[in-house]
Amino acid sequence: MLDLKQFEVWFVTGSQHLYGEETLRQVDEHSKIIADFFNNSPQIPVKVVFKPVVKTPEEILQICREANVAPNCVGIITWMHTFSPAKMWIRGLTALQIPLLHLHTQFNRDIPYSEIDMDFMNLNQSAHGDREFGHIMTKMRMNRKVVVGHWQAILVLEQINVWTRVSVAKYKMQTMKVVRFGDNMRQVAVTDGDKVSAEMKFGFSVNTHAVGDLVQVINQISDAEIGKLMQEYEDTYTLMPSLTKYGEKRSSLFEAARIELGLKAFLEDGGYSAYTNTFEDLHGMRQLPGIGSQRMMAAGYGYGGEGDWKTSAMVHIMKVMASGMKGGISFMEDYTYHFDPANPMVLGSHMLEICPTIAANQVNCEVHPLGIGGKEDPVRLVFNAAAGPALNVSLVDLGNRFRLIVNEVEAIEVTESFPKLPTARALWKPQPSMEVGLQAWILAGGAHHTVYSQNLTTEYIEDLAEMLDIELVVIDKDTKIRGLKNELRLNEFFYK
Ligand code: MN
Repeated sequence: MLDLKQFEVWFVTGSQHLYGEETLRQVDEHSKIIADFFNNSPQIPVKVVFKPVVKTPEEILQICREANVAPNCVGIITWMHTFSPAKMWIRGLTALQIPLLHLHTQFNRDIPYSEIDMDFMNLNQSAHGDREFGHIMTKMRMNRKVVVGHWQAILVLEQINVWTRVSVAKYKMQTMKVVRFGDNMRQVAVTDGDKVSAEMKFGFSVNTHAVGDLVQVINQISDAEIGKLMQEYEDTYTLMPSLTKYGEKRSSLFEAARIELGLKAFLEDGGYSAYTNTFEDLHGMRQLPGIGSQRMMAAGYGYGGEGDWKTSAMVHIMKVMASGMKGGISFMEDYTYHFDPANPMVLGSHMLEICPTIAANQVNCEVHPLGIGGKEDPVRLVFNAAAGPALNVSLVDLGNRFRLIVNEVEAIEVTESFPKLPTARALWKPQPSMEVGLQAWILAGGAHHTVYSQNLTTEYIEDLAEMLDIELVVIDKDTKIRGLKNELRLNEFFYK
């Protein structure tokens, strides 16, 4: 798990020299109190670093340049305690390359009716000072997050929490590497796309290795290491009898452990945080990685089946955002539908590769034949996903731009048994309804592969889309098809 405390955001307060030394001293003091409060707040996962109040265009430019290059600084939070004429901010904001959160707060929560005087008014001007600051960013067409409310309010802290987590993800994307073992599945459209444009837009690189390069690493794994991992499987999961010590399929478990260790070594050595593979290109491998890919995801790596590098990258990015949060995130596929009008649902799964972090309870380790790929029977983890609100997220390449699509869903407790389906299973109801949710998804061009998240909300994806300056289509309880069609049409014009 990624330790988010190694990352920091800077708390920058703007002012000007008009008010004199004493007022500026108080601005500094109050800003420090707020920054310290954030830094000590359990709701905010990163370090919050107080910066002395900036009062001139030169100071503002300087701090924006410093923030751009400061190691592990993922964004800045700005606040105008007094009035900071916003032309002073143009140069700094033009230079700024990291996300900005505009905190529209004020030091006092309430109007101090009996004590308020002109000295108080001189110091506490954010109600209008922040509007001047907001105006220049709108005029400059700058994407930023605006958070409104008293700085101790839980809703304010929650929004800052979301933004800091997304800022860390964006920061990590700048150096992120995705490796593809082989190309994508032949003839498939949605898993393909422009990897060069993706690197320009998102920062992560996507490069290919022949599956033989991976096989070479897999073949070097020692029996001792494999033995240790098999013990971990036994301690962690419920093994089917044929996989236990003297079972007739024990050798399949041995091979699965070898593959997992090979994958892990390859990714670690290459500095990769996400990968793809495809059942069409497994030369030299005896099984399609099942449990290996499932456990690599659980360890935080991104995975996409059939060469799907966009979904793989998003799995990792979303796991970074959710570091330390309850619930899980997995690669997912819309598998089949339950069109019962009384209880419509989607069954989500993949032939093997679903992350066990989304499991409701017991995780079984099983081996079964796979109808495709022509390899030996792969070992996989089988379980049911937990109930509760969740998201399906898809990143697609529309040729002239990338689009993020979110469908909010409600996962249902899996009560039926699936005695003949040896995969992990999730059941959910798309918002706003089965028909409208699916129709909207199809119209928006959403993929059959998604990132399925139990812990992130749409706000995270919205913040990410704005930081990356890409299109976002949200399908939620308020979605109406006619409105969505118009949104998609207007977006064609906006992104032309
Ligand atoms: Mn698939």
